Amino acid sequence: MTATLNQYVPAHGVRAPAGRAPALRVGPTPVLVGIGAGAVAVLGLWWTNTTTISGLGDYLTHAGRITGLLAGYGAIILLGLMARVPALERGIGTDRLTRWHAMGGRYTVSMLIAHGLLITWGYAVTARTSVVGQGLSLLRDYPDVLYATIGAGLFVTIGAVSARAARKRMSYEAWHLIHLGTYLAIALSFLHQFSTGADFVGNKPAQIAWSTLYGVVTVLLIWYRVVTPVRQAFRHRLEVEGVRMEGPDVVSVYLTGRHLQDLKAEPGQFFRWRFLTSEGWWASNPYSLSAPVSGGRLRITVKEAGGHSRQLARLQPGTKVMASGPYGAFTGGVRRRRKVLLIGAGVGITPLRALLETLPGRPGDITLIYRARHMSDLVLRAEIEEIAFDRGARVHYLVGTREQLGGDPLGAEQLEWLVPNLKHHDVYLCGPESLIAATREALRDAGVARRRVHHESFEF
Ligand SMILES: Cc1cc2nc3c(=O)[nH]c(=O)nc-3n(C[C@H](O)[C@H](O)[C@H](O)COP(=O)(O)OP(=O)(O)OC[C@H]3O[C@@H](n4cnc5c(N)ncnc54)[C@H](O)[C@@H]3O)c2cc1C
Repeated sequence: MTATLNQYVPAHGVRAPAGRAPALRVGPTPVLVGIGAGAVAVLGLWWTNTTTISGLGDYLTHAGRITGLLAGYGAIILLGLMARVPALERGIGTDRLTRWHAMGGRYTVSMLIAHGLLITWGYAVTARTSVVGQGLSLLRDYPDVLYATIGAGLFVTIGAVSARAARKRMSYEAWHLIHLGTYLAIALSFLHQFSTGADFVGNKPAQIAWSTLYGVVTVLLIWYRVVTPVRQAFRHRLEVEGVRMEGPDVVSVYLTGRHLQDLKAEPGQFFRWRFLTSEGWWASNPYSLSAPVSGGRLRITVKEAGGHSRQLARLQPGTKVMASGPYGAFTGGVRRRRKVLLIGAGVGITPLRALLETLPGRPGDITLIYRARHMSDLVLRAEIEEIAFDRGARVHYLVGTREQLGGDPLGAEQLEWLVPNLKHHDVYLCGPESLIAATREALRDAGVARRRVHHESFEF
């Protein structure tokens, strides 16, 4: 059946066509174990190259070697986490990978600073010179150390602008551009590890293993962040089919393309969208699918927030689109229980709308709570109700300010009252970060295990 833009076509239980292998996903545990094992191997490298340590200078130098090795390892792992490897995206989820990246970034930058200070101080103590004099002579006599120091300076700058307070004050694009400096920082730091690093000089196997790690991550980055979106653009030939206003500042964009099932996009996932118009080709922003892939068509539903989202209302049919993805683990794949509660706030309803339609379940298994400040913020309402009616799902609207609703409508007591047997549900939660944090606490108070609360934040 072909649908016009104002027709909702049910696609309950949309699944990969028979015979198609399910998409691979790797969960957090094996990845964390792998990263931990790598860190132990790095310490093993230092251990096997160390015979005796004597005196303060030696202790400081060895502490500098360890922090240097761990910083070098941490930096490349941080890039690997952001390589957009589909199996990690599906198994761990973009927002969790981003949180790991941010947390690991703080440790890595700290170790990098410690490495520079400890090595210089250790050499100075051993050579009985001043720390400043030792530092200057290292920079003067070893060009690779000079490059690495510039790289470290870049790392520290990037770390500083990524701090929450600084990040909030700049545009996403400016932050992203500065963040790209990480690649340069790593390239600048790489050589000094082999030319001056005591654990690598003359140690071919260690050099090969280290280069392989860096090489594999570089290939993953180029493949998944550059080649894959271009390949997808040629294979799927996505273009805008039409735009439909869903509310005063919300639009749905319908896209068509070829071989869309090969994208293996699951309801709840998102893509990064680049609309090839003169005003928008340079930006690529994340939007979730607001309906399952069906009938050769994709759909996103977007609320105006700034430059990128505003231009979507003006898209013309036929506009070419590049989409990279799908990303995210906010899918049916993480579900453990038969009963499911979906909680969406504002435009955070989009991935939940797709899940509402497709999560397997019997009548009564699925409940949707839709929180909004005003009635006009409730988008896709007609089709949500139609799906809920078809599927025997319950929908609760919580509309109004806290004052109007007499307190927090998503508090533990209110949730337990709305959803009988709440603690036996899997919960999918999507909306602003503050609402997610508060609702996770409320769910915990209501006895829902943390591992059964799956969330997607629309903020980066
Ligand atoms: C995983 C995910 C899924 C999302 N799904 C939807 C959706 O289905 N519907 C919807 O309306 N919104 C969604 N968003 C939010 C949407 O991406 C932003 O509102 C939009 O990118 C804002 O860009 P702008 O240029 O219009 O506004 P700006 O004023 O430039 O940005 C407003 C805020 O949006 C964020 N942002 C901007 N550009 C990016 C970017 N390239 N990547 C990440 N964050 C960015 C920043 O936090 C920024 O402060 C989603 C966000 C994420 C992270």
